[in-house]
This record gives sequence, C-alpha cells and structure tokens, in this order.
Amino acid sequence: MEISSERTLNEPNMRVADLQAIGDELAIKWDDGSESYVKLERLRRHCPCAGCKGEMDIMGHLHIAPDRPLPPQAFQLVRLGRVGGYAVQPVWGDGHATGIYSFDYLRQVANPA
Ligand SMILES: [Zn+2]
Repeated sequence: MEISSERTLNEPNMRVADLQAIGDELAIKWDDGSESYVKLERLRRHCPCAGCKGEMDIMGHLHIAPDRPLPPQAFQLVRLGRVGGYAVQPVWGDGHATGIYSFDYLRQVANPA
C-alpha cells in the first residue's frame, strides 16, 4: 500500500486541542501546546456567517448586513459545537448559531497579525 504525503486542501495548519469558555473569554489550546485567549464579544463580532458578513449576489455585489446593535446576551456563549475536524460552531445567547469558525479563522481572530 502506498502512503500519500499530500495534504488535503482544507486541512488546517493548526488544530484545536481544547476549548474552554472562562468568564468573558474563550481559551483555545492548540495542538502545538500554545494557547490563545479571545474575548467572546470579539469572537461574535467576527462571526463569519453570511448574515453577519454579508452575501455576494450573482452580479458580484456584496450586501453587508446593517451594523445592528447587539444585545448583551449575543456575547454569551451557550454551547460550542465541533464541526468535523476543522471548525467550531458557537451557539450564542440570542440564538444565533450559523457562524462556523474554521480553526484557521479562529486563529486569525485570536491572534491578529
Ligand atoms: Zn453570524
């Protein structure tokens, strides 16, 4: 049997080993042993779903959702689900749960360049 060394395209550079909400922050432990802390409010404001980030129409115009003020419960984490082996999907206190954060995206939000 031949073993391929090719990486699949969607494979993240870094994997999340553990996640824990502590107070108003999310503690992320990466599989290289490093840790990141990201404020839940920051995480929610970077929600990557189409409703928050805007949607591209067939003409290529980006429709950005109006910047609505969010209630305090929007920044409360109810649950954090895992999506396959590459992303997490938080459920927020206001019921919003359509944002899927890939590990790579999560790392960008937690550790801005
Ligand atoms: Zn969203």
